[in-house]
Amino acid sequence: MSGNIRIVKICEFCQDEFVAKTTVTQCCSDACAKRLYKVKKRDEVISRAKLETMIKQEAEAFITEEQVKVIQAKEWLTLVEAALLLNVSPLTLRRWTLSGKVRL
Ligand SMILES: [Zn+2]
Repeated sequence: MSGNIRIVKICEFCQDEFVAKTTVTQCCSDACAKRLYKVKKRDEVISRAKLETMIKQEAEAFITEEQVKVIQAKEWLTLVEAALLLNVSPLTLRRWTLSGKVRL
């Protein structure tokens, strides 16, 4: 009874109409399915990278908001504190000091 259901769907990759064998089929062919998988995988990587950047920016904003005054009140700064004030990573600041760009 369920064997002869014909579902006309639009391929998610090439946008062509096709008859799907199952309700979960997304693409007209294996080739499209593989390409769609690649695209989705890439989007996933991109959105994850964006999310990580957002989280990082939020964390930085939180730190500067709360700690800048405390850090500025200090006479001597640690590398990490100075990096926070300059809004660069401690690693970058360390590279700057080593290259003579910044003197601590
Ligand atoms: Zn297709």
